[in-house]
Amino acid sequence: MAISIVSQDEAGEADFIICMLAPVGRPLLMAGNVFGLCKQCDRRVQHRPHIPVGPKLLCNECHRPDIADDVVITPATLAEVLRRVRSH
Ligand SMILES: [Zn+2]
Repeated sequence: MAISIVSQDEAGEADFIICMLAPVGRPLLMAGNVFGLCKQCDRRVQHRPHIPVGPKLLCNECHRPDIADDVVITPATLAEVLRRVRSH
């Protein structure tokens, strides 16, 4: 599996965006997250508000490593992930 940093437009061509499940009553993983539904199990997921339009949402439990060979991440998401990792 390869992970590439791609533009927002290129990321919009991806098949799926992997999102964390968002059970009702649990705090958001990051302030400002918004909700959607997993395309496969229909459970509520949370994601950043700036994700590309187009790819289907897939929850972290429905995602399987064999579902895709290539993983892409946008610079905005990478920056947020790094800020979060460095603050913990
Ligand atoms: Zn799911």
